[in-house]
Amino acid sequence: VISPTVDLDAGRPAIRLSIDGVASHFPILNRPLPNGKRTIFLDSGASAQKPKVVIDKEREVQEEYYANAFRGRYYFGQRIDDAIESTRQATANLVGAGRPDEIVFTAGTTMSINMVASAYGDKNVRPGDEIVITELEHHANFVPWQALAKRRGAKLRILPITNDGLLSNEAIESTINEKTAIVAVTSMSNVLGTLPPIEKITHLAHQCGAVVLVDAAQSIPHQRIDVVKSEIDFLTFSGHKLYGPTGVGVLYGRYDLLTEMDPFMYGGHMISQVGREESNWALPPAKFEAGTMPIVQIVSLGAAIEFVNAVGLDVIGKHEHSLLQLAHQRLTEIDGLTIYGPQPDNKGSIVSFSIQGVSSEDLAIRLDEAGIFTRHGHHCAMVLHERLGVPATTRASIGMYNTTEDIDELARTVKSAVKQLR
Ligand code: PLP
Repeated sequence: VISPTVDLDAGRPAIRLSIDGVASHFPILNRPLPNGKRTIFLDSGASAQKPKVVIDKEREVQEEYYANAFRGRYYFGQRIDDAIESTRQATANLVGAGRPDEIVFTAGTTMSINMVASAYGDKNVRPGDEIVITELEHHANFVPWQALAKRRGAKLRILPITNDGLLSNEAIESTINEKTAIVAVTSMSNVLGTLPPIEKITHLAHQCGAVVLVDAAQSIPHQRIDVVKSEIDFLTFSGHKLYGPTGVGVLYGRYDLLTEMDPFMYGGHMISQVGREESNWALPPAKFEAGTMPIVQIVSLGAAIEFVNAVGLDVIGKHEHSLLQLAHQRLTEIDGLTIYGPQPDNKGSIVSFSIQGVSSEDLAIRLDEAGIFTRHGHHCAMVLHERLGVPATTRASIGMYNTTEDIDELARTVKSAVKQLR
């Protein structure tokens, strides 16, 4: 059993794990399926599998020192509080935040974005303002802004993509302007893998007096992001796509913005003083962490971050990129297959495609029979699919545990399924 530990002050992993054979740390990938097949998991973009250290950490917390957080001054309570703060520090290091109290724990990306749309948006967006999103957005970074725009009498502007699935400078420059109050953009499309030019967007938005929220749900397990260097005001992600548990997410917010925002939820822990008529709020991050937190999940997210650090995000990114190139090369050999979005050098490790005369659902069923787990449908991005002109695509999303054999098997199985299904 490996137990990576991290030097939190330096933000450097105390041990290194090799990417070769990293799948051996993921118990679920090392069990045969009921049909005897090996699991080829290509749906990490929906949710990633968990390494044993994360599973063990969840059990350890509940068996050894479980208690509510920030409540009890007894041994278990102290250990839990320390473990939560340790994850907060590890998260701050992961995203390059200057201080740990800029990290708010939420239930996931969806909650983090809704929190900003309500707690920042309702206070700061005025009638006639513009909120800018892009055609690439997942519904989680689309619908909350559409609803906010309606509530506040603002205009929702949707940055168009090019035919290659990119955001052009011209589109960015002609959409973000003095009326823009908020720009909400993904750092990696969950369908096309597109990596928008975040620094260009933050520069322009700040010149116009707007704030920028970056939805890092997809990019966080693949590439380093630095909120200070890229001048990001809000950043959101979910633990479960970063090899951690479900039920926990992160909102990074610039401390001055978090201070100025109203609370999102009201209840225990988020107050400094409660009176019969009036109450006051605690400082961030507690102000946004009302009620009992997802304690076990937060502590275990810390283990997931340590694990990712031990393998190294740069190493993971390089490994996945070589698999992505292989996937493009092998899949484009298949007659009638269209891959949507940018070329591999311009995107993260996701391949979405359709095949003439073959339904994405039928293909997914054939792949499933071979132990290859992909996703089909609109991937919570209906406006993007409308732009692409297809109702559904098949998506293979690559994680650190995938191998060249996985990609070869995917291409081979797609090829033979197409012959049977056409
Ligand atoms: N944003 C993107 C780009 C996503 O891919 C997802 C999930 O697939 C989300 C947001 C929503 O994440 P969650 O369901 O964990 O809140």
